[in-house]
Amino acid sequence: MSLPVFKYNPNALRLGFIKHEKTVCPVCKKEREYVYDGPFYSEEEVEGICPWCIKNGSAARQFDAEFQDPASCEDVDKEEYLEELIFRTPGYAGSQQECWLSHCGDFCAFIQYADWKDIERHEAELQKDIASISESYGIKKELLQKLFNESGVLQGYLFRCLHCGKHRLHADTY
Ligand SMILES: [Zn+2]
Ligand SMILES: [Zn+2]
Repeated sequence: MSLPVFKYNPNALRLGFIKHEKTVCPVCKKEREYVYDGPFYSEEEVEGICPWCIKNGSAARQFDAEFQDPASCEDVDKEEYLEELIFRTPGYAGSQQECWLSHCGDFCAFIQYADWKDIERHEAELQKDIASISESYGIKKELLQKLFNESGVLQGYLFRCLHCGKHRLHADTY
C-alpha cells in the first residue's frame, strides 16, 4: 500500500514526520508499517496515527484535533485550503509555535529545515522574509547569517510556493 501524498508537506517521510515503523493505529485500528510523529493538537494524548488516517481526515475527526494551529497560518484564498492543511496534512516540528506560510493565495509546501547555507541558495527570493525576520528580532541582516548557522540560535523553515515556485522562509529561536 503506497503512502499518501501530502501537497503541503511532500517530504514528510524524509523529514521524519512519518516514520517507517510499526504501529497499531488508534483511528483505523489496523497494523501499519508507517506512523506519524509530529504535532497533533487534541485534548487526548494520541500516539501511533497512520498516514492514511491523516490523509482521509479521520484522525482529526475522531479526536477533534488539528495538525496545525489555524491562528498560526498565513491567509489563503479558500477555506478548503485551510481545512486540508489543519485536518489532513502532517505538521512539522518547530522549536516554537509552527507557522505555515502562504503565497499566490494558497499554502506553500514545507520543504526542509534550513540553516544559512540553505537560505543563501535562495537569498534573492527570500529577501522580504529575511528582512522581516531581522526586523522582528531587532538584529541587522549581517548578523542573521551567524545566528542561522549550526551553532547559532535561529532555526529556519523553508517553504516553496506550489503555484509559482517561489521560496519563503520562517524562522524561530531554538
Ligand atoms: Zn489509521
Ligand atoms: Zn507563488
